[in-house]
Amino acid sequence: MSFLEKTLKAAGFTVHRMIFSEPGAEDVENFYARIGTAAPHLMFAGHTDVVPPGDEKAWTHPPFSGAVDKGQLYGRGAVDMKGGIACCVAAVLDHLAASGGKPQKDGKGSISFLITGDEESIAVNGTPKLLAWAAERGEKFDHCILGEPSNQDELGDTIKIGRRGSLNGTLIVTGKSGHVAYPQRADNPVRGIVTLIDALQNEPLDKGSATFQPSNLEFTTIDVGNKTVNLIPGEARARFNIRFNDCHTLDSLKALLEARAAKAADGKIKFAFKFEPSNAGVFVTQPGPFTELVSNAVAEVTGRKPELSTTGGTSDARFITHYCPVVEFGLVGQTMHAIDERVPIADLRALTTIYRKIIDTYFG
Ligand SMILES: [Zn+2]
Repeated sequence: MSFLEKTLKAAGFTVHRMIFSEPGAEDVENFYARIGTAAPHLMFAGHTDVVPPGDEKAWTHPPFSGAVDKGQLYGRGAVDMKGGIACCVAAVLDHLAASGGKPQKDGKGSISFLITGDEESIAVNGTPKLLAWAAERGEKFDHCILGEPSNQDELGDTIKIGRRGSLNGTLIVTGKSGHVAYPQRADNPVRGIVTLIDALQNEPLDKGSATFQPSNLEFTTIDVGNKTVNLIPGEARARFNIRFNDCHTLDSLKALLEARAAKAADGKIKFAFKFEPSNAGVFVTQPGPFTELVSNAVAEVTGRKPELSTTGGTSDARFITHYCPVVEFGLVGQTMHAIDERVPIADLRALTTIYRKIIDTYFG
């Protein structure tokens, strides 16, 4: 962030660095820089934090050396995603150098960098607070490119235009414990939970949408914890995770589960849901002129027509989508989070050229 501050200040950016805190969470340093005051406003987003390197001795080159070997740059974060940040900064500086130091030739337009240090963690003191801070200052964004490693196998194969949301919960069925020989005096919650699990997982949550595969519910454990052979237990629990698409919101999804369970319980099974707090909502940017602009730039440089994908886990795009349309395009994700995370120098150059084309066309 210090390097970014020095580099972008020299190019005429106004830079803000701030630490956000929250009881029970680690303090996180965040970064915002902008050049220009007018619309259109193109924002580049990313994170400087990385996952731990794992067994450092297992790396071919030390994980924080930045060693270049046979045309590849080694290092934790090379792909996810300091490499992506380096490329967009280089592309922006190239663009400014060619356009008289302003985002656009007639002096209109703005470019900003929204960089957090809290993406690989719980994302509490990062992008959500940074966006709220920016909104309070009156910052308005028109479009965002998040430089996460979006590509599967080769640079240019995938642009992420959406990601599913995630919800964790526990289904709790309460019965009445008793002796297995006298079941009429007890109420076995194992029977109840089997009925409810069956009802919840057998009917699909939806059929999928124009941009997403169908939502999916997976039960991950069923727990009764009964060690006694002749005892009917008093309670049974089942945990689940749902990856959901844009047919639902977190609230509508919870209501759907409650309704389905109530119907199956038919007043005879006592149940409750405990949902874990989630800020992992769904994000989607519908295909249109902006996705086309990015797609064309990728195709021009790489010769590949990228797939507009909505697969994979969550990212900070789930927060940015509330402020402006966002797409994810960055490096190839194959070695991210792995030992020997590395990126071909050729990919860094090509990605810089792609970003440059996007910026030139956007302000052209
Ligand atoms: Zn990342």
